Amino acid sequence: MKKDTKIVHAGRNKKWTGQSVNVPVYHTSTIIHDTVEDLKFAIKNFKNNAMYYGRRGTPTHFAFREAMAELEGGHGCLVYPCGLAAINAALMSFLSTGDHLLMVDTVYGPTRVLCNTVLARMGIETTYYDPLIGGAIKNLIQDNTKVIFTESPGSVTMEIQDIPAISKIAHQRDIIVMLDNTWGNLICFEPYKHGVDISIQAATKYIVGHSDAMLGTITASEKYWDRLYDNSFYMGYTAAPDDINLAMRGIRTINARIKQHEESALKVATWLSGRDEVDLVLHPAFTDCPGHDIWKRDFNGSCGLFSFTLKQGDGKAITALLDNMNLFKMGFSWGGFESLAMSFYNLKGERTLNLWDNYGPLVRLHVGLEDADDLIEDLDQAFEYFNNAL
Ligand SMILES: *Cc1c(COP(=O)(O)O)cnc(C)c1O
Repeated sequence: MKKDTKIVHAGRNKKWTGQSVNVPVYHTSTIIHDTVEDLKFAIKNFKNNAMYYGRRGTPTHFAFREAMAELEGGHGCLVYPCGLAAINAALMSFLSTGDHLLMVDTVYGPTRVLCNTVLARMGIETTYYDPLIGGAIKNLIQDNTKVIFTESPGSVTMEIQDIPAISKIAHQRDIIVMLDNTWGNLICFEPYKHGVDISIQAATKYIVGHSDAMLGTITASEKYWDRLYDNSFYMGYTAAPDDINLAMRGIRTINARIKQHEESALKVATWLSGRDEVDLVLHPAFTDCPGHDIWKRDFNGSCGLFSFTLKQGDGKAITALLDNMNLFKMGFSWGGFESLAMSFYNLKGERTLNLWDNYGPLVRLHVGLEDADDLIEDLDQAFEYFNNAL
């Protein structure tokens, strides 16, 4: 079946939905067992989606987890209260004191902070590597390296990683490859076809898709499923049924939404590439974007999030640009229906290896579902304020 068809049907097992189209939202902590035999059955089968206790999930959770595992791949899926919690759970489930973690230098900022604080305090050593390293990652592997963490495209600067090359090296040494697949959503990148062992989503972004809930997911290959499942529950991770319901609703339209985000973002990015003020268009479909050829080889498409650099501009000019955008609002959690803009004057503290300090200021856009021509007009008039402030 094609992706559109799977997206409509995933997780709608009659066992969970009954006769309704959608799975009901179960609000419960306690699951009631009438007999000792029923209770024993639940204890024996909670990993296989028997109702046992609220934290282990209800049909609302089970249906969503099944849908995610079907659509992203992997043996199973678990839910977490937000994307960062899922990243933490993935790392804490597999790393121990004395272990070494290879972390991509362009990782989402809060993941870097997690490594440098909590993981460091636990005696887990992190080495940051160049996102364009590819197979040369083998030179950074130590005897105690347990996990290689990837995120592609890179946060803010959009470098595309050679995940198949990294996975090949990792698997020769039994090292786990984790991916923050949030940009790849459920459409643009298929992690398990490219050698990833554990894939994380900030479902808060495109899966929920309407900026009204926070949720994280992890899918894992069969090899790592049991350990992920057990450790996630030892640490108490679960997510609320209303939020899962919103994510399940988001799944049904994700392909249609991503197609529109992609089309509009390409239109806006193409327009930007013709502007005198713009230096680089850091959109994976553009040759300016580091790793563009790998994107062409490995990805199914692109979404609404990309960046561009300006040839010049100080804080005053960038402020004039952002303050005078009317449709693009400033905010962090992209992936909703609305357009967003954010500027990054420099990447100090966000990078160890490449600070991008030979470039002008960087602006990241999330192109939402507004009409692309209206968005271009909004940027066009904001650039006038930018130029006047230079
Ligand atoms: C937003 C984001 C996260 C964190 O997700 P939250 O749900 O906000 O905790 C992680 N990774 C990436 C790439 C993100 O964009």
